[in-house]
Amino acid sequence: MRFRIVGGYRYKCEKFIPVGVRKLEQLLTYQHFRWRRHRIFTTVTAMFFLIAAVGMVSTHPAHASEDFETWLAGFKEEALAKGYDAAFLDRNLAGISPIERVLELDQRQPEFSLTFWGYLNKVISDKRIERGRKLLKQHAGLLAEVQRKHGVQPRFLVAFWGLETNFGDYLGGFPVLGALATLAHDERRAEFFRAELFHALKIVKDGHIAAKDMKGSWAGAMGQPQFMPSTFVNNASDGDGDGKIDIWGDLDDVFHSAANYLKNVGWNGEETWGREVRLPKGFDLELIDLGIRKHIRDWQALGVRRANGADLPTADIEGSLVLPAGAAGPAFLVYGNYRSILNWNRSTFYALAVGYLSDRLQGRGTLRAKQPADDEPLSRAAVLDMQGALNRVGFDAGKPDGMVGPMTRKAVKAYQKSRGLPPDGYPSVALIARLKGEGG
Ligand code: CA
Repeated sequence: MRFRIVGGYRYKCEKFIPVGVRKLEQLLTYQHFRWRRHRIFTTVTAMFFLIAAVGMVSTHPAHASEDFETWLAGFKEEALAKGYDAAFLDRNLAGISPIERVLELDQRQPEFSLTFWGYLNKVISDKRIERGRKLLKQHAGLLAEVQRKHGVQPRFLVAFWGLETNFGDYLGGFPVLGALATLAHDERRAEFFRAELFHALKIVKDGHIAAKDMKGSWAGAMGQPQFMPSTFVNNASDGDGDGKIDIWGDLDDVFHSAANYLKNVGWNGEETWGREVRLPKGFDLELIDLGIRKHIRDWQALGVRRANGADLPTADIEGSLVLPAGAAGPAFLVYGNYRSILNWNRSTFYALAVGYLSDRLQGRGTLRAKQPADDEPLSRAAVLDMQGALNRVGFDAGKPDGMVGPMTRKAVKAYQKSRGLPPDGYPSVALIARLKGEGG
């Protein structure tokens, strides 16, 4: 899975949605889709012009107006052309119909964006830490074997496992083929989910699991690591060598698959993920950017220290700075493995939570920075207001959409600079009040 959010997190209706699905909806927030849609759009547009240029336009049509049965027949036809046999398709696609609940969940708009602290409190409870520590011990043998083979430290595998499905408690109950077909028929991200549906079919064809047992989140994330089918096909690994990869029920396969995926996206088993740091007074906030990588010694020279004030380690690695809660919140110096976590899920909060949980599992303490008393989530309505206000006072936040994406952050930053505020690009209740006070 390759997704990101910057600060958005849906929590409306969370009580009714298991963790695995919540995570999916977290990673399927609007920022993610804006990013993915942009990529898909760019790719599709480029392909369209390329094909049109040679006079043979042929792409899957938008499906909104096409009824599901017609769409499914077209899908089957394509599957036949790809070499699937008719009996297999009839057997596995029989009775598939659109799942209304999947569309509802997909189209839901978040009412609030959790703050970094709100998110952290939610996904890293003492109970989860305690259980993770126990499981780390309980599965020490298997995890050590996985580490030898794939080079991923056990504490990280258990942290992912905890965040994805609460250590296998919540795998999602939607039939994956049906959920993916629903989303592939829906026009909004048809191409993406159609490709995932083909990957899911391949998994069934390869005999890893029967279609009827292939359950997942509403968006098709499967098993204990919540892999999308494409992630499974490209990265899953048969840990116990029985010829099947069972990421739903077999922990050998779960850990080997998760570790293999991390290895494939560049995990370095000799390094950690990053650490909380302290920035000196007056630190240049322009340096806080994942695009800016510096050697640890250079950050040291710029006055960055460990959270307890001690010197940074002398390891020969590069890092970037992340400020998930703005200039007043904690700062993190993150290394290459942090970027690998972002490959799994392109959410800043998620990636920091995996790193932090892995530290806690190892016995480390809480963050030095503390949640401010007035830390509260921004409502969608407040963000909409803010975006309108920024536009009115001359800072282009784009078309107001109620979500804090890259363009909004850029506008906030430009506004802060112009008013002599620390330019961290971080919207807060106080900032919104100030903007309104200016008649924005
Ligand atoms: Ca197996």
